[in-house]
Amino acid sequence: MSSAQFPIRRMRRLRRTGALRRLVQETHLVPSQLVWPLFVRHGEGLRTPVTAMPGVAQLSTDELAKEAERAAALGLGGIILFGIPASKDATGSEAHDEQGIVQQAIRAVKRAVPQLLVIGDVCLCEYTDHGHCGVLRDGDVDNDSSVYLLGKIAVMQARAGVDLVAPSDMMDGRVAGIRKALDAGGFSHVPIMSYAAKFASAFYGPFREAAGSTPQFGDRQSYQMAVGNGDEAMKEIQLDLDEGADIIMVKPAGPCLARISL
Ligand SMILES: [Zn+2]
Repeated sequence: MSSAQFPIRRMRRLRRTGALRRLVQETHLVPSQLVWPLFVRHGEGLRTPVTAMPGVAQLSTDELAKEAERAAALGLGGIILFGIPASKDATGSEAHDEQGIVQQAIRAVKRAVPQLLVIGDVCLCEYTDHGHCGVLRDGDVDNDSSVYLLGKIAVMQARAGVDLVAPSDMMDGRVAGIRKALDAGGFSHVPIMSYAAKFASAFYGPFREAAGSTPQFGDRQSYQMAVGNGDEAMKEIQLDLDEGADIIMVKPAGPCLARISL
């Protein structure tokens, strides 16, 4: 790198033409870096529009398979699946059922497009009747029994053929719990992408409508983080890495770019 100063050094020289700009472009955004979130529900031939997100629909597994083929043709990095169960209960039973909607969806996509990367959202909020990301005890989300169920969900998804699991719940110790459950189930090759620093945010509102996961009382502030807490975010990220997370995530990304660049 030359230490020459203006007018010897003129940064704009390399910006003059499209060809020059292409040559020195530092960051490339390509389809293989993108993951497409898809919402799957029971039924056949269904595309139920999500009013909060125009163009987005809840899909039955046959329609989902078509979108998966599109994703592969576009060269996308993969798809991530969120399930809408037939019925909800206190422990989110369908999430960890062999015949749960996401497990069915994973199998359908793998049959249609085996080479497409399929990620499973691992959480309970779409499946619990109270809409929280874990099971309740005395009116609050109980950490350790929730972690146990999250491990079960991950194993069920792995059995169905998922390529990667993505816990989005923010329980303490869940990456370690899921890793242990996967390894014990014979799935030591399945990576974990954790929502390591997930801030409580109104940005999730439309997504909750799509996934049918709005909490029926209270909010998620006893497990998701306060948006101003940067030091705590770094601790959460380090803990998840120490517990064996293969990929970590900061969410919501847009307003948290300062965190991501650290
Ligand atoms: Zn959740």
